[in-house]
Amino acid sequence: MENNSKIIMHIDVNSAFLSWQAAYNDQVGIDKDIRNIPSVIGGNEEKRHGIVLAKSLPAKRLGIQTGESLMDARMKCKNLLVVPPNYDLYVKASKALITLLKEYSPYIDIFSIDECFLDFTGMEEHFGDPIKAAHKIKERIKSELGFTVNIGISSNKLLAKQAGELQKPDKVNTLFLEEVKNKLWPLPVEELFMVGRKTKPKLNRLGIYTIGDLANSDFKIIDTILKSHGRLVYNYAWGRDDSTFNYNNYIPFKSVGNGSTIPFDVEDRETAKKIILSLCETTSRRIRRSNVACGVISLGIRNLDLFYRSHQRKILSSINSTEEIYQIALELFDDIWDGTPIRKFSLRLSQLTSSEKIQSSLFDKEESIKLIKINETIDTIRERFGDYSVTRATFLHSGLKPMLGGFAAEDYPVMSSIL
Ligand SMILES: [Mg+2]
Repeated sequence: MENNSKIIMHIDVNSAFLSWQAAYNDQVGIDKDIRNIPSVIGGNEEKRHGIVLAKSLPAKRLGIQTGESLMDARMKCKNLLVVPPNYDLYVKASKALITLLKEYSPYIDIFSIDECFLDFTGMEEHFGDPIKAAHKIKERIKSELGFTVNIGISSNKLLAKQAGELQKPDKVNTLFLEEVKNKLWPLPVEELFMVGRKTKPKLNRLGIYTIGDLANSDFKIIDTILKSHGRLVYNYAWGRDDSTFNYNNYIPFKSVGNGSTIPFDVEDRETAKKIILSLCETTSRRIRRSNVACGVISLGIRNLDLFYRSHQRKILSSINSTEEIYQIALELFDDIWDGTPIRKFSLRLSQLTSSEKIQSSLFDKEESIKLIKINETIDTIRERFGDYSVTRATFLHSGLKPMLGGFAAEDYPVMSSIL
């Protein structure tokens, strides 16, 4: 079944390297806009190996192509302006773009330095109709960041990307499933994502010249001749794309930590275990709420002399269940505790990634799934009935709080404003 309920935007910077350089030049007061003259961004010309990384429209009109040597480019245009690449600038510009986009959705799937997807699903109630919102976003990028983008809108990543290619530059385009026939099918087959220089001639030999030809071709023949790649592009021609949105890129914080100063000296392992479990409960719930899992767990303890010791462990797989985090935290504790009375415990979970791809190596698969379910259930109950509605038996009559530490709003700079 196709999922039509999603709204995915594809944001693509128009001739990124060139635009970013132009935006920079503008900011530092250089009048000449390199976008309006024959210019290219190109690697080292003296080394003679330099190639064209990006070109202005006037350069394109002179036949200059991305990827060709600077020497060849210069033959096409004697007074071609060659600007060396400035990767630091590109990284800065790219980050500024993502920061602006995050105002519209916390879910950004970064595709490359100048392209990303934004999951706009459910954001209509905040920002209105997706097409109007896209225009707003595009205009803001132009006025605030100084460069233009193309925005494609659809229900999946493939179609959103194809929508962005329809007309350039500085445009918003839609390509929903019902528009595929009219907007996508008439295009040359090489315009389809993943139909490259190798695939195009193979398709042409089969009499397939447009995306529509591919969609209406005999699937069995495509499958036989082009194998899995054939199946992929055939489905793309129909606008079918089951790739998942990579929510990994949405990590509003680098790590989540929680600490607790204990009002008495902790001198025995049993009490320490309870405190650590309690910290694991609150900290792991925070990452679960954000749909992330952690790959590094750190535990620190401070004794009466304020002597602080900590250890961390990097694990192969990402986890977010209380039990798994607790198991590792406990091992860390046993590594660092020398038996002296403890006054403060702290736990930090870092190297956060999307929880979609959790693969536990600590427990077997069935056990892991069970843990995820249990944690989900407990989180839901606590959300509805309060933190102490479910309490682990170990805390009964212990005099210890089962959920230590509080929430820090500053850990959620993006979420607090949007969600
Ligand atoms: Mg681009």
